[in-house]
Parts: sequence; structure tokens; C-alpha cells
Amino acid sequence: PPRLEVQDLARTFEGREVVAGVSLTVAPGQVTCLLGPSGCGKSTTLRIVAGVDRQSGGRVLVDGTCVSDDAMHLPPEQRGIGLMFQDFALFPHLSVGDNVAFGLDGGLRRHRERVAELLERVDLGGFIDAFPHQLSGGEQQRVALVRALAPRPAIMLMDEPFSGLDNRLRDDIRDRTLALLKEENTAVLLVTHEPDEAMRMADEIALMRAGRIVQRGAPYHVYNNPKDRAAAAFFSDINIVHGEVHGALTDTPFGQFLTPGMKDGTRVEIVIRPQHLRIDFDRQGRGPNPTASDGVAARGVVERARFMGRESLVEFRMDHDATILKATVPAVFLPKPGTPLWLTLRRDR
Ligand code: ADP
Repeated sequence: PPRLEVQDLARTFEGREVVAGVSLTVAPGQVTCLLGPSGCGKSTTLRIVAGVDRQSGGRVLVDGTCVSDDAMHLPPEQRGIGLMFQDFALFPHLSVGDNVAFGLDGGLRRHRERVAELLERVDLGGFIDAFPHQLSGGEQQRVALVRALAPRPAIMLMDEPFSGLDNRLRDDIRDRTLALLKEENTAVLLVTHEPDEAMRMADEIALMRAGRIVQRGAPYHVYNNPKDRAAAAFFSDINIVHGEVHGALTDTPFGQFLTPGMKDGTRVEIVIRPQHLRIDFDRQGRGPNPTASDGVAARGVVERARFMGRESLVEFRMDHDATILKATVPAVFLPKPGTPLWLTLRRDR
């Protein structure tokens, strides 16, 4: 059986169903991210799995054994689960070492070696006898992290655990956290509303909307094969190109797309991520399609371009129908407004 299994979980608050049939599994060593906009029911799901809230329907199983259903409800401390929530408050009157050892039988005295080793892993080796108020916010968060890991929970539940950290620190702590969790073969259920965090951390993303999981899969899959327009738009800006089906083909500014099995006259929206468009200069303003082999191309003129550090955001006016499309391209390009360009969409996108 999977380490953690959630079956058809539901939760109603004052007659409103905020979790409406969530099912998922997490294997040992796997990180699953519940990803979705604020209010879609992620935290409620996590709290029920933890045992600090109770479902209106459905079951939670750990290693194939039910820990919560309509009839029974094991308290959080008996579920073999570690918790790391946004508000990670350390005990202010306990040293860093005592905080980390809090959940360990025998405390710091008996587990000093493991505690020291864990603190070492997050670059806090010298802080074992310090007190929380002597640490920065980021350092305190790292202490909270290893405190949650110290008892080697088989399952770790994390609710936006990195949200209080500044950007540069956050990437580093995410990576260290991930390494520690993988090393311990922990099954992880992580809640976040940030697509970047989910893609960085997850083996599997469970995309939630209005109390339901609308799509599950590896980050690469969910990003590149979104189930619908909203799923696509959740991960990045999107371009929409309109078309209409005629004889299994759809005409677009990029040429004809095969749209088999669709009735003539069906109106089609083609969703294109700015990251999946490439630009090629068209110096004569009438060059041949430069990329026929790996993509389809359309002519356009630069409306405006913004340098954003790693990349440039270029807005085009399409020759075809004067609509504006956005492309994110390497920052070596910063074309001037009015420049004629080819805009190429790779076929596999
Ligand atoms: P998310 O974690 O995705 O932001 P939550 O699970 O926190 O969403 O909340 C989902 C919905 O349930 C929200 O509309 C929230 O207001 C509501 N909700 C959560 N907890 C309670 C509660 N204890 N009482 C009433 N409504 C709640």
C-alpha cells in the first residue's frame, strides 16, 4: 500500500463544501504538492490528514491502515506524521537544541549527536545552545524544519513552509529540505499556491480548484499538458489564439493545425505559453519562414519589449489579425519597437 492514502475526502463548513471529494496517494520518498489558488481547500485537506480537523466524509489511511473515517479518528500524535506549518513558532524558553529534540524520547541529552548533525545540515551547527531570539527569521525556520524532521516521521505534511523567507534564502532552504526528506525516504504532502515552488519541489502536482483535484501529474506533464485553459493559466501568462474548424483543420496565424474529430464550425482556442514562442529576426521584412522544420511561424512586428534580467518579454502585433502575443525570450534579445520578426511555435508545444 502507499504510505499515505486519502480517499474521497470531503469537508463542509456551514453548509458549504470546501473539500469535495479529494483522493490521492503518496509513496515513500515522494513529494506531492497540493497546488491551487487561495481558498481552494488545500489547507483544510492537509489539516484533516494531520488529524487536527475532521472530515465530513472519506478516509485517511497510513500504510494501508485507516487512521480516520466516519467511525474513528486517531489523534495527530498517533499517526506517525510530522507537521510543518507557516507559523512554525519555536519554544522561546528552550535552546535551539532542546527545540529540535523536543519530539525525541529522552530529549537533547540522549540525542545530542543526531540534533547536532541535523543542525549541521542546515548550516546551524554552532547554534545548538543558542536561543531562538538570537536567530534571524530564516535561521529560526531552519530550526523548525529540522525539529519536524528529527523524529524521522514517515509522513511529512507541510503548509506553505517557506513563505516567510526572502527569495534567495528560500531557494536554498527548499533545496536542503528536499535533500533531507529524500534521504529519509519521507512521504511528503506539501501545500502551496506558488507554481514555481510546486515545480521545484514536487514529484507529483495535484492541481486543486474549488475543493477538487482537477489534474495530477509530474510537473513537466502538468505544465506542458494542462487539462484546460484555467490549468494552463495557473502556471504562467498565456496567449490565446482563436480559430475555427474546417474539415479537421483549424486556421490560425501560425498556419493550419490538425484538429481531428471536431465538427466544422467549432470555435477553437489555442493556448500558447510565452515561454514556448521563439523569435527570429526577419531583416528584409520578407524572409522565408526560417523554422519550418521544428515549428510553425507567424510574422509580426514588435510592439514593445521589456528587459527582465534573465529574459525579455516581447509583445508582438501579429500581421495576420493585429492581435498582440507575448513571448518570453532569452535576454540577449531586446528588439526595438517596429522590428519585423518571425514568431515561431515549436510543434511539440
Ligand atoms: P487554501 O488552503 O486552499 O487557501 P483553505 O482550506 O484554507 O484554502 O480554505 C478553504 C475554504 O474553507 C475557504 O473558503 C475558507 O474560508 C473556508 N474555511 C476554512 N476553514 C474554515 C473554518 N474553520 N470555518 C469556516 N470556513 C472555513
